[in-house]
Amino acid sequence: MHARPLHLINTPDIELWPAHLLRARSNRDARALARARHVLRRKRDGRYLAAELPEGLLPLVQRWAHEPGVDEALDALDRISEHQRFGIDTVAELPLHRLHDRLDTLDIDAEGYAARTGLALVAEPAWLAFAGFDRYRRPLWLHVDAARAWRNMQSAALLEGVLLESISGYRSHDYQLGIFERKLARGLNVDDILAVNAAPGYSEHHSGLALDIGTPGEPPAEESFERTDAFAWLERNAAAYGFAMSYPRGNPHGIVYEPWHWALVRA
Ligand SMILES: [Zn+2]
Repeated sequence: MHARPLHLINTPDIELWPAHLLRARSNRDARALARARHVLRRKRDGRYLAAELPEGLLPLVQRWAHEPGVDEALDALDRISEHQRFGIDTVAELPLHRLHDRLDTLDIDAEGYAARTGLALVAEPAWLAFAGFDRYRRPLWLHVDAARAWRNMQSAALLEGVLLESISGYRSHDYQLGIFERKLARGLNVDDILAVNAAPGYSEHHSGLALDIGTPGEPPAEESFERTDAFAWLERNAAAYGFAMSYPRGNPHGIVYEPWHWALVRA
């Protein structure tokens, strides 16, 4: 019996998920997930494309083998055993893939946006570590360094009676684009959305080093978080674990005050 995998392997278009951390969306999925080790999941919309079973790959959508990026995903699947055998401490970054296409789709001028906000492009890591479950019982994925620091910080807070919950950690460029597409479909315009969400490619969440933190009884991502014991604890202690609040009041990026958003500061 092999240990169950706890890494998300990232490729430009497709993620390789540990099957035991995915939710089944149909009976057919449930049967496949119960026997699979990994599942190929399309980043753009989260669709499960194929499951890796002991006897080979089981298609979960038609024509999965023609999906963009499937060759890279299969190469990554081949390399997983290596990754697990040697353990890997360095985390490579994926190339900034199709990013300008995405920004063009949204009619965002990349240079103007970067100059206005002072935000830099943020590459996605080639793999992410499981960092426990978030408030919604979804797996929280973070850069391995942030995952360790978060777990240590969360345990330390708990010892002092403070419950820190994660709301959201790593998000892909495609996921961020999806936020824009959903809001555009609801009738918002790009400028309205940019007042609240970073453009795809520019969110700190892409690095896996940032996470949104909440505490029970508090709505997610609201300024009222600053009046909680959890926030007071973070203000006193987060720096000792390497975390800093990225968007304090009056930050130079013109991003609204986000007392819930913390990131691991790399030395
Ligand atoms: Zn955030």
